[in-house]
Amino acid sequence: MDNCLFCKIVDKKIPASVVYEDENMLCFKDINPSAPVHLLLIPKTHVDSLAHTQPKHETLLGKMMLKVPQIATDAGLTNGFKTKINTGKGGGQEVFHLHIHILGTPA
Ligand code: 5GP
Ligand code: ZN
Repeated sequence: MDNCLFCKIVDKKIPASVVYEDENMLCFKDINPSAPVHLLLIPKTHVDSLAHTQPKHETLLGKMMLKVPQIATDAGLTNGFKTKINTGKGGGQEVFHLHIHILGTPA
């Protein structure tokens, strides 16, 4: 989608520190981390927010959630981690391309 920051990161038009990528999703370091490890996992396809997901996204969402523990472990978060999805302005969402925050401190 034009003018979407995270779509531009997917398209490599804006650089990001990528830690995981496959055909469906991209994970990169948050530019303003609020924990020693702060990653953002996004679908490569544009979806505004969790509130904009549809039944057609069921498999994609499942794949993303199943990938989170592997990404967290690979980032050194072997003792646990937090996940967060801000949804809508009232939910604190600032970038309107669905993303899962993965946060923690390496063990
Ligand atoms: P939200 O508040 O929408 O859930 O979170 C958006 C996140 O995106 C914030 O934690 C913010 O630091 C991060 N962010 C904003 N712009 C950029 C950017 O250009 N690059 C990266 N890597 N992260 C960004
Ligand atoms: Zn987008």
